[in-house]
Amino acid sequence: VFHDDIVPLAPEDPLFGLMAAYKKDDFDKKVDLGIGAYRDNNAQPWVLPVVKKAEELLRKDPKLNHEYLPIAGLADFTVAAQKLILGADSPAIKDKRVVSLQTISGTGAVHLGGLFLAHFYPRNPKQLYFSSPTWANHNQIFSNVKLPTKSYPYFSPLTKGLDFDGMRSTIEKAPEGSIILLHACAHNPTGVDPTRDQWKEIAKVIRARNHFPFFDCAYQGFASGDLENDAWAVRYFVSEGFELCIAQSFAKNFGLYAERTGVFHFVTGAGPDAQRTIARIGSQLTLLQRSEISNPPAYGARVASLVLNDPELFKEWQANLRTMAGRIIDMRKALRSKLEELNGKEGSWKHITDQIGMFSFTGLTEKQAVKVKDDAHVYMTKNGRISMAGLNTGNVDYTAKAIDKVVR
Ligand code: PMP
Repeated sequence: VFHDDIVPLAPEDPLFGLMAAYKKDDFDKKVDLGIGAYRDNNAQPWVLPVVKKAEELLRKDPKLNHEYLPIAGLADFTVAAQKLILGADSPAIKDKRVVSLQTISGTGAVHLGGLFLAHFYPRNPKQLYFSSPTWANHNQIFSNVKLPTKSYPYFSPLTKGLDFDGMRSTIEKAPEGSIILLHACAHNPTGVDPTRDQWKEIAKVIRARNHFPFFDCAYQGFASGDLENDAWAVRYFVSEGFELCIAQSFAKNFGLYAERTGVFHFVTGAGPDAQRTIARIGSQLTLLQRSEISNPPAYGARVASLVLNDPELFKEWQANLRTMAGRIIDMRKALRSKLEELNGKEGSWKHITDQIGMFSFTGLTEKQAVKVKDDAHVYMTKNGRISMAGLNTGNVDYTAKAIDKVVR
């Protein structure tokens, strides 16, 4: 009964397809700028030294077992995660207006938020606006939970920076009470973030239009190397009294990709009913979570919890974050300077160092992105996005030459 008009063959995921093609390629100078996972200067995955320490502690703990976690996950972890994103002295935490559930990494947090909003978002039309472009999975996740989506402009091909006017005016014109998805920092795929003044203006428009902000935070600490700095936008919105939600991933900042470690937070506005409201919202989130995953996996949460709750380990984690962010920032400088040296035009690749985080939108067209893969074995997604972590001192010159060749 499952004929091909009922179940057509779905296309391969473009990113995981690119990864497979890279693996198969036996060219010795091939460069992987596809998947967003940190690599050290030898192009190898990096287990954070602080994570190794925490794993050692876990191995030695005689009390650990494999019993189920609660439906909302490991409380020591989710409470520490709240403090991490909102700030330890956040008024929302003090007022007990936050509810947090451990999820299947950031993807699961976006999903749980989308599912909750699809069921309970009270305003009409119920629709979510995300940036164009955005993380490719946003589209699929929200369409799976049947939350209709639209987009707001984000990237200006002309400046290779933020199309702030386009973004603001579309959010302004969106029907009152729309859900606005925002990347907390290190926007994927562009690497372009609003400035603090621009965030303030965005907040103003969202307030004036009664919209509901939904923050996706996949790179706290990984973007600038500074946890406070990368959480600034979220904390600003909370300090302005917004009701909002946050999808938080620990994949990149802890290098816990496969352990699926994340948290979904819902923050209500202040008011006499706030605690009752948050209890109601938490109870429905718990019900949804039970039917979706029953309860989340323990390992990554245990590792992160040890680090987040121990001042010494926390300090070491901050140093590890600076190592990752610092290496990426160095690679941005190296790539830009090599490209400008090749074409002799100072400032022509300034956007590479203006952009932040794991990714850079190079401005390469789809044709150029495919050509650089075919000719030079430099793998990037068709939208011209490169994962900066794939660059190192051994391949950045080769990559710059390959890119320079296809853009001439
Ligand atoms: N949101 C954004 C914007 C991302 O870039 C990512 C990671 N690619 C995620 C969410 C979630 O990733 P994960 O499920 O691995 O935490």
